[in-house]
Amino acid sequence: MINQRIKEIRKVIKNKKLIVVSKNRSIDEIYEAYRIGHRDFGENRVQELIKKYEQLPKDIKWHMIGHLQKNKVKYIVPFIHLIHSVDSLELIRKINSVSEKNNVKTKCLVQIKIAEEDSKFGMSPEDFEEIKKHLPNYQSINIIGLMGMATANVNKNQTKKEFDFLHEIFKKSNNLNTLCMGMSQDYKIANECGSNMFRIGSFIFN
Ligand SMILES: *Cc1c(COP(=O)(O)O)cnc(C)c1O
Repeated sequence: MINQRIKEIRKVIKNKKLIVVSKNRSIDEIYEAYRIGHRDFGENRVQELIKKYEQLPKDIKWHMIGHLQKNKVKYIVPFIHLIHSVDSLELIRKINSVSEKNNVKTKCLVQIKIAEEDSKFGMSPEDFEEIKKHLPNYQSINIIGLMGMATANVNKNQTKKEFDFLHEIFKKSNNLNTLCMGMSQDYKIANECGSNMFRIGSFIFN
């Protein structure tokens, strides 16, 4: 079942990166994906992420995809593969200092707000422009790309507009190689709009 769904996604996204979103899924369910070769998993809550990290094989690459509070950075920096949800300069500073202490360089994406809803996290494109100037000061954090979430349950044109918008920002930014957008509902549109990393959960597990 999981296998079938992933094959279906692969037909669309080909060899681009797929993050299997495992939030709210059991250890057994994650193992099902692990056994067929999946190693990249995404979680949106620190506590659940740590619990699963402890219980599952250590060759799994964990992705923090949800909003991250500064006081929780220290729990995930030692093992996290990629933080998708960097949305402020304060958080960049925190990740940088904790990474320095741990002697690691932490890979991150900056989350840009592209959706209309107030509930979606992320910084404005203007704030990102400003923050870019400060990045050379933070040598223990490596910003490799951008992440965005489109407005849920709107028509395809609106979704496409939001993804195109982020793609434009991505193209204008040098030194970035990852554009992470697209979930169960909208990964096909995201693919058309230049995404090269997808976060998909319910379509795979339901
Ligand atoms: C849950 C979640 C996803 C996956 O959503 P699905 O609709 O289950 O594919 C992707 N990104 C973030 C940030 C999430 O919290």
